[in-house]
Amino acid sequence: IYDEISIKSLIRPVPDFPRPGVIFRDITPLFQSPRILRLVADSFIQRYVETDFSHIGAMDARGFLIGSIIAYELNKPLILFRKQGKLPADVLSEGYQTEYGEALLEVHSDSLCEGDKVLIFDDLIATGGTLMAAARLVRRMGASVFEAAAIIDLPELGGSQRLEDAGIPTFSLTAFS
Ligand code: IMP
Repeated sequence: IYDEISIKSLIRPVPDFPRPGVIFRDITPLFQSPRILRLVADSFIQRYVETDFSHIGAMDARGFLIGSIIAYELNKPLILFRKQGKLPADVLSEGYQTEYGEALLEVHSDSLCEGDKVLIFDDLIATGGTLMAAARLVRRMGASVFEAAAIIDLPELGGSQRLEDAGIPTFSLTAFS
């Protein structure tokens, strides 16, 4: 089912967004094609269907889109990792650097237990700052990261390597250099 060329063709490069010199990889066209959206979601579902993880941890906000489809299809609990100030109950926070500046990532402090194995998911890995912060939050709750997954990797920004160096297996459907 996996068709990297079709997926790649529906990721739109937007030059100079959000800053001059940056090429933003826009995934909104993927969602406008029901066939390709299904292909993207099914590629993750096929990869993880027979594996032994306990929770999906999805990143605010584009990670929620496919993350929730995977959670639904594989019948797993879904944990939301959100930008600062969005979660209403008690949170744990971790600071991180993004491609574009500094931010805080938060999760409800009662979302995981010791021994849980979490598949952390985002649309794209750039510097890896977001998923590394999520991994620290997972570990602070006594749980472990099963794998970090994304639709797109930007290997030149070093994020997937940073995750691997931190002992986190990393998977993406496609990459842009
Ligand atoms: P990182 O934390 O540096 O790995 O950046 C990844 C985060 O920033 C993800 O949550 C992405 O949604 C977002 N992001 C960074 N660059 C892009 C891009 O080119 N397209 C879409 N999202 C991006």
